[in-house]
Amino acid sequence: MIVLKSAAEIEQMAAAGAVVVATLAALEEALEPGISMRELDRIGEEVIRSFGGAPTSKGYPGTKESGPFPAAICISPNDMIVHGIPGDYEAQEGDIISCDVGVTLDGLIADSAATFAVGEISAEAQRLLDICEESLEAGIAAAQPGAEVGDISQAVQSVVEGAGFSVVRALVGHGVGRAYHEDPQVPNFVSSYRGPVLRPGMTIAIEPMITAGGHAVHVHADGWSISTDDGSLTAHFEHTVAITTDGQRVLTKAAGVLVP
Ligand code: MG
Repeated sequence: MIVLKSAAEIEQMAAAGAVVVATLAALEEALEPGISMRELDRIGEEVIRSFGGAPTSKGYPGTKESGPFPAAICISPNDMIVHGIPGDYEAQEGDIISCDVGVTLDGLIADSAATFAVGEISAEAQRLLDICEESLEAGIAAAQPGAEVGDISQAVQSVVEGAGFSVVRALVGHGVGRAYHEDPQVPNFVSSYRGPVLRPGMTIAIEPMITAGGHAVHVHADGWSISTDDGSLTAHFEHTVAITTDGQRVLTKAAGVLVP
């Protein structure tokens, strides 16, 4: 069931989005060779709480085996695509590290991810990041009222595959709002699923997850982290987008400097 949001709810999601933006900026600034993923998580949680927010991922229910997600931020280096549990791993020069941040503020959620470079990275890794970001922008541009979810999927996929990269099939974007994951699903690839027509009040997280190799993935023994089967590098960018009467509004882009 798709839950439409009122104008006031969308404003509240934008307020949560501003906290997400501030958190991602702090993570990018702190990310340098030698910092542990656990320390990045600590910094991210501190920023979120300084604005009165709660990290949506922390305690998010998993399976019976995995238990709830134990950290504030999903941090996934290199061939890990998403849902990485921040631990002892220390960033190294040349890494690309995805940080996925959900913030709940007064009961409403915004969700955004970016993949950051650690120091100098290879030209191929940089191209992967650039194409992933470009595919997200294409997906956002396609998210017009009256379009179908499938139009977003097609826009993302054509940018990614046009560049010779692969789209992950096992994971998709989603509605977001009062729950972290709402209907509809927002795939990054075209299939028989075209999804619903986009209409004002819908709020969705568009999140291309792409690889430099194949699209096959596996879940690690922790029950959360997901990596490519072939060990290829991956990138992940995400924005929360509201469909409005006259277009779309990205709720997780910088709108000025927030002071906690
Ligand atoms: Mg998401």
